[in-house]
Amino acid sequence: MTATYQSVDVPFEYRHTCWFCGEPYFESYAFMPSPNYDHQTLPVLLPSCQECYGLCKGIKASDLELLRDKVKEQLHRKYQKHLQIGVNWTKEELEQSEFEGKALEGFRESAWAMFEIAKARVNYQGWPLTIDGLPVAALSTGFHIQFDGITYTSLSHAVEQLAKAYNIPQQYLEDVVEVVGRDRLSYAVRFAKTTYGYSAAEREASIDSLKALLAEEAAMSLPEQKKSKGVDVKVGDIAELILHRTLIPTHATQWVLRQGIKTLNQLAEQEDAFFEHFGSDSELTAFSYFTAMQVYLEHRELEPDWAEQQDPNRQWFDML
Ligand SMILES: [Zn+2]
Repeated sequence: MTATYQSVDVPFEYRHTCWFCGEPYFESYAFMPSPNYDHQTLPVLLPSCQECYGLCKGIKASDLELLRDKVKEQLHRKYQKHLQIGVNWTKEELEQSEFEGKALEGFRESAWAMFEIAKARVNYQGWPLTIDGLPVAALSTGFHIQFDGITYTSLSHAVEQLAKAYNIPQQYLEDVVEVVGRDRLSYAVRFAKTTYGYSAAEREASIDSLKALLAEEAAMSLPEQKKSKGVDVKVGDIAELILHRTLIPTHATQWVLRQGIKTLNQLAEQEDAFFEHFGSDSELTAFSYFTAMQVYLEHRELEPDWAEQQDPNRQWFDML
């Protein structure tokens, strides 16, 4: 007896489930790649719901990954109105809204459920496909992209759908995404939403100002990276010590750690801030604290071995 098809393994908990969208099983779709680059000889049977079964019949795809993505894209298109409910409303807003009349009340009651069903179906991941325990193909979701909790098959798919959902000209959103990068899709949508109106010339000007803004942002972020971050340590966790007959007070050490200061130079840069902070107690206290910190940091610089191995506060300085 020769087999005429290959059935994928269905884990127990997925019996009666559509592999594409998680809805109840209707029939298995017999998939043959087209074009058939890998010379597959037998169709692969994929458990499907009635709707995905119908969609599959209209799709040509050279592999399973492509088939899956095309089914998802068609579900997105078909349920665009439902998915947009989540764009336009939050659950609470919808519950509190005052729709009157039978039809609108019906909308209020069912809208969120429709949104959640559509979202679950487009986001559904299926299970890893195997036949007799052997992987059918490496199915990747590497190009998938998430926005507002909804999965899209690719960046261009996301842009296409989001342009529709937010009523932004698609080309404009594409341009904005290209400038800000795929990692900042929500920034791109926000920017495009508030600037898409008016003429092509004005949109072009918006893109130019966006580029300038990002360049400025990049320049600003450089010095920020150089500045070391401080650590917040409780006074009780800081050791008091005596160096060169000078008491190193814990409160001053705490302040220095909080500012991320670990060198004499950094301390000098923060001198005004130091005196402002401790000067409110008394000028003399501020002065003796500052001197103590100079002694402490200088000692750490001149005796690196001591700083690394013996300074009782070394664990805190190591965090800077
Ligand atoms: Zn389905």
